[in-house]
Amino acid sequence: MYIVMISPEIAPVAKVGGLADVVLGLSKQLMQMGHDVDVIVPMYSCMRYDKIEGLHEVYEQLWTPHFNEWRPEKVFEGRVEGVKTYFITGGNYTDRDRVYGYDDDLFRFVYFSRAALEFMQKTEKRPEIIHCHDWATGLVPVLYYDIYNALGWDNSRVVFTIHNNECQGLCWYGDKLLGMVGLHGGQYYTPDRLKDGSHNNCINLMRGAIVYSNFVTTVSPTFAGEMKTPGGGRGLDGLLNKYSDKLGGIINGIDTSIWDPEKDDRIAHNYNAETFVEKYKNKYALREWLQLADAWKPIVSVVTRLTHQKGLDLIKRAIYSTLEKEGQFILLGESPDAAVNGDFWRIKNELKDCPDVHIWIGYHEDLAHLIYAGSDMFLVPSLFEPCGLTQLISLRYGTVPIVRKTGGLADTVFDAGDVEKGEDKVNGFVFDAATPAELDNALWRGIRCWFEKPEDFNRIATNGMAYDWSWKNPACDYENIYNYIKAK
Ligand code: ADP
Repeated sequence: MYIVMISPEIAPVAKVGGLADVVLGLSKQLMQMGHDVDVIVPMYSCMRYDKIEGLHEVYEQLWTPHFNEWRPEKVFEGRVEGVKTYFITGGNYTDRDRVYGYDDDLFRFVYFSRAALEFMQKTEKRPEIIHCHDWATGLVPVLYYDIYNALGWDNSRVVFTIHNNECQGLCWYGDKLLGMVGLHGGQYYTPDRLKDGSHNNCINLMRGAIVYSNFVTTVSPTFAGEMKTPGGGRGLDGLLNKYSDKLGGIINGIDTSIWDPEKDDRIAHNYNAETFVEKYKNKYALREWLQLADAWKPIVSVVTRLTHQKGLDLIKRAIYSTLEKEGQFILLGESPDAAVNGDFWRIKNELKDCPDVHIWIGYHEDLAHLIYAGSDMFLVPSLFEPCGLTQLISLRYGTVPIVRKTGGLADTVFDAGDVEKGEDKVNGFVFDAATPAELDNALWRGIRCWFEKPEDFNRIATNGMAYDWSWKNPACDYENIYNYIKAK
């Protein structure tokens, strides 16, 4: 099958969050299964160009509509970990220091969506499947069906994946936005097209993608269910209930060529479930790197974007709760919001003389690898979490996750006390409500288990390592969906 992914991110070249990992990991696995996969992303000036092989120009004047003019973009091709990737320029829309976070983000990504389809049209790429991701490419299905079908390209089918429904691409100047790329705004202001359900006179790109796509997926079955409720749907629940026969949840995989404790060359010592005790050499290396005391204490870690979704208050609480119970705590994270970073800098300064805490405000791939390998427990106290990759990585590294029961965390982490699941399947500590008391309960159960029942603790850790979190199963699920909509 020929599949084209249209995405705002691809790891490790343009990565903000898990979406980037998903696009790369899923594409690689689909290729291994014999499919032909291309990825199309914007050519940001802030990309990691050193991670692209053989970058060269393949299309010189991609005339793309932009209000009253057509702009001549360029398209480059290169390989990202073997995946054929096209990069489309966007002039001042792509010449930025960050992927997102600008006032004109809607214009930037709507323009990219049109340019991506224009490139496919001009080069006669006719994939069986166009797979697009999150609000930034939400207009792709709309453009495909309303513009390109009329031009005779109608044999592709579209899958839209919701990685996070917090950002939906809401726009109060829909006429202008849609008009920029050649759509007549007025006709889209109806609920069965793009009109937002809760904000009057507003269009919603994610809504359009749900209406127009042949299939909509999200990144875990639990989150698919949560999105259909008023609490989790963020205004899209009614629409998703209406279209529930074309909605599915597939747990993300992790790229096991990158995340593999047996082969990872960014950690101090390789190990697997049989040589689990060797994992502790990484703990020593981690302590050395971060100058933590070498003591008989468990290390609890967090690696995350520091955003509201991730449970910032609970993370702060966990630092002190861990110390209170004689544990050590490591946080690696950064926020797009300077005030949030400032908060964590204050805690870092307050605890600067404590030998049992290290707070690293920033983004650091190598340190993340050693944290996954060298920690005993890994905390993910998210308020909501569509899938979550960090708990999957920590499971693979035998680092016991402590998570809040929501979204993909609920689908992948099974509490140590879950009798139904069985002793050989439980793999972590889970709490329900996002309250300090429930967090402490799960955290302290984990820490107590580490101190008092090390054999149980090691069993829980190695149980986690035995699960297969690779892309093999999820990619088969996506393949089934592709086949299903192709045949319809
Ligand atoms: P989200 O997509 O919401 O950010 P995920 O759990 O799906 O969360 O994916 C996060 C990914 O980003 C993981 O691979 C994690 O290791 C990585 N990551 C997050 N913050 C950092 C950081 N500060 N340094 C290094 N890696 C990070």
